[in-house]
Amino acid sequence: MLNINEIGINAMIHARDHKTPYLIDPWDYLGPKRRKLLDGSWAGLFREHILSELPVHKIASCYTEGFGRPTKEIYAALGALILQQMHDLTDEETVSQFSFNLQWHYALDIPGESDEAKYLCAKTLWTLRQLVAQKGLDRELFTVTTETLAKVFGVDTSRQRIDSVHIRSNMRRLGRICIFSQSIHNFLVNLKRQRRAIFETIEQELIDRYLTEKALGCFSLVKPSESARTLEEVSRDLFSLVERFRGNKQVISLNTFGALLRVLKDQCDVSETGEMTVKTPKEIASSSLQNPSDPDAGYDAHKGQGYQVQVMETYCASSDESIKDRTLNLITHVEVESAHVSDVHALIPALESTKERGLVPREVLADSLYGSDENRQTARELGVEVISPVMGAPKDETLSLADFPQTDKGMIAACPQGHVPVKIKRGKNNAISVGFASEHCGVCPHQKRCPVKPGKKRHYLRCNLKALRIAERRAGEHTPEFKDKYRWRAGIESTMSEMDKTTGIKHLRVRGLSAVGYCARLKAVGVNLFRAARVKRALDALRTVPGTALSGIGAIIWVVKERFLNPGCRFRNIFGQVTENDPYAFSIAA
Ligand code: SF4
Repeated sequence: MLNINEIGINAMIHARDHKTPYLIDPWDYLGPKRRKLLDGSWAGLFREHILSELPVHKIASCYTEGFGRPTKEIYAALGALILQQMHDLTDEETVSQFSFNLQWHYALDIPGESDEAKYLCAKTLWTLRQLVAQKGLDRELFTVTTETLAKVFGVDTSRQRIDSVHIRSNMRRLGRICIFSQSIHNFLVNLKRQRRAIFETIEQELIDRYLTEKALGCFSLVKPSESARTLEEVSRDLFSLVERFRGNKQVISLNTFGALLRVLKDQCDVSETGEMTVKTPKEIASSSLQNPSDPDAGYDAHKGQGYQVQVMETYCASSDESIKDRTLNLITHVEVESAHVSDVHALIPALESTKERGLVPREVLADSLYGSDENRQTARELGVEVISPVMGAPKDETLSLADFPQTDKGMIAACPQGHVPVKIKRGKNNAISVGFASEHCGVCPHQKRCPVKPGKKRHYLRCNLKALRIAERRAGEHTPEFKDKYRWRAGIESTMSEMDKTTGIKHLRVRGLSAVGYCARLKAVGVNLFRAARVKRALDALRTVPGTALSGIGAIIWVVKERFLNPGCRFRNIFGQVTENDPYAFSIAA
């Protein structure tokens, strides 16, 4: 790993030391009121706590040490990537904000007025973003900022909640016919460019039907009455292309041919005799290709095509508004997955990830999909209690295991009529047989509704340990303790709404799992910063003495400062302009 001092020495890699304070503050030209506004905003927070923690060492290793043009100041450029996602900006808008926005300059600590300091071209931004995404540094940026904010605000991570939100990438929604036609089009374009000789062997009719954009547009105008026939035709065309080039090494190496194979597998059945039939819509898996331009996107029956983001955050279990204002609800985990993936798989990776970073909860609130019995058992091994309702509901007219009271050790204590079991036997694979006296069950009015069934000597309730655990949870869902704890879960819905309103997470400008993950993680950093700035303002307000009017000595100090110190500031400003291109000369070396 490169050392910050080593980077500073290297002329090609430009990274300033943002930890050492200035000898003369270059931001002193700002009046106290504007300075206070900046310090209380996300910009002040970013400058004070985040900027110097950015993992520039990892990105610096991508640049050649003694060759090429010097880089942009890497801390500021990396910070700009976060601010871009935080404010949901295009590259052009980001360049504009980087060049002219005082809040950005303050946050990124760019006091100079030269183009070298305050200009970042769109190409540089794009290249840096590619580097960050390739090296997975978006995860590092999220980790570093989360850990820093947790430390600065003393965040209590013992209570957290988790949920997912559906997001859409920059992908058009395609019907089945268009998935076939677009995949064939992409393949022909690719073949024409990469394997011209092979392309020329393809029939002109097929090329006319799929190669041009105009011809492709016809497939989106197919009438409903003709859609079945058209679907049959396009699937046959795709199948014929796959069969034709299946053994051709030059063609199968093309990515677009891989897409043809995937569409064929997703949408059609091919028998052993080589007969191809189109699958019915119900037979198509939710993991099937939704659009060849975004092969990672999946399908969710309720929410549609795209991705989902798993978000875990801390929460404040208090209804007192003043306590809420002073508590930072920190997003501690963000993970992006295809929309078809079930939430049941998200909980344990989230707990493991937060455990690695020292942010693991003791108690996590989640909806029923996350709270499977297996997840609860694994979470318990990690020292985490999962609080979630049980999936499904028993039929009202029948008695269920949840109606049988249990002992502290999770064993049946009595039946719904209050009769104690006569015998309890544990078998293989955690099977349990609980015997009740037949003289009670035989005359019981609930006999028809009860899961206990008559046996040779007694009436028996047969189940296993897992079913008992679930029954105990189901019974516990109606207790006031559970309701009081679980009510805080719903608050994460407002986090999802906040993420969308402030950072536009639900409609992204990018495609592909890696790019979508990059955006989601940096937008979560943005939400954390916005929240932290709000908390900081609330804490600062608490520290201010009530009654804003200055009196006595305070008023005299204020008058002296305004009258005599401001000209001094103006002098420094004049002096500062002379040295604007070399503001770092005033910072003390680390
Ligand atoms: S049938 Fe037997 S076990 Fe079931 S409620 Fe009646 S007495 Fe209890």
